[in-house]
Amino acid sequence: MSEVHDVIIIGSGPAGYTAAIYAARANLKPVLFQGMQPGGQLTITTDVENYPGYPDGVMGPDMMEDFKKQAERFGTTIHFEQIIEVDFSVRPFKLKTDFNEFQSHAVIVSTGASAKLIGLEAEKTLMGRGVSACATCDGAFFPDKKVMVVGGGDSAMEEANFLTRYASEVTIVHRRDEFRASKIMVERAQKNPKIKWDLFQSITDIHAGDDGKISSVTMKDSRTGDSQVKDCEGLFVAIGHTPNTKIFEGKLDMDEKGYLIAEPGRTFTSVEGVFAAGDVSDSIYRQAVTAAGSGCMAAIDCERWLESQGH
Ligand code: NAP
Repeated sequence: MSEVHDVIIIGSGPAGYTAAIYAARANLKPVLFQGMQPGGQLTITTDVENYPGYPDGVMGPDMMEDFKKQAERFGTTIHFEQIIEVDFSVRPFKLKTDFNEFQSHAVIVSTGASAKLIGLEAEKTLMGRGVSACATCDGAFFPDKKVMVVGGGDSAMEEANFLTRYASEVTIVHRRDEFRASKIMVERAQKNPKIKWDLFQSITDIHAGDDGKISSVTMKDSRTGDSQVKDCEGLFVAIGHTPNTKIFEGKLDMDEKGYLIAEPGRTFTSVEGVFAAGDVSDSIYRQAVTAAGSGCMAAIDCERWLESQGH
């Protein structure tokens, strides 16, 4: 049987790396699994302007590289593999990747959340052929094109602004005329001359041209029920996120949206010895700085719990 670690951290966003920094400094020799998207959601964003300590802003991927280096500096072991199965019914806990099995006295879950899609069949087939869930990753492929961004939250505003660096015109398509986005982000988009608005509209279909790439979309007006087809050379879906908790179904308590339920104000999950940090258990704040804060809390909760168990 493999060595039993003190703590395994699943996920490599601000929560995971902060938990690793604190756990490593507490001499727990944490082992961190980066998962499918090393560095988490911040690696697919551009400027981070609201993380304290960076008065001029910082690029998301650069910030996550700094987090990683800091975690490594204090002795975190980082694996590129993804945890695909967990067994929390026995202690030490068992965690499987595609190739190996690991054991740990405690686990910190910081698997974050992933971008949601509209749910259209064509969205899947045209993903990478003009449909994208990441403006930062794909924006440069749309120079002088007319593109659309779906959504009315901060992500949609941010992506639309970012896309104006490349596209000739960016239309924000939103299903109502009120926005979840913060006022400052909406105003910034409203002031951008390249951004147009299609409000009260839902995308109901996506069409491809002869080249197999997106050429137009059908959108339906929620007030009249009328549909119309509009030319579109790129469609960026920015409609929120789903927590990455599939492997914990039936193993940890979750709310109806799949977010892990932690003890109020703490990081304890429904299984003793398993802690939750970051967006995976936060459907409200979902900020890099709150994720980092809860990563710190999880490491401290974990350290004290391990001590109480005599480890
Ligand atoms: P969000 O705030 O949940 O907004 C999602 C948007 O997508 C809403 O406008 C929603 O419309 C729309 N939507 C949801 N499902 C849809 C569907 N099936 N079809 C069409 N539209 C749909 O998500 P977010 O924008 O990703 O932001 C998440 C969190 O991250 C927020 O707390 C945000 O403040 C934060 N964030 C911050 C920044 C920043 O400060 N720089 C940048 C990005 C994100 P309805 O409003 O009608 O429900």
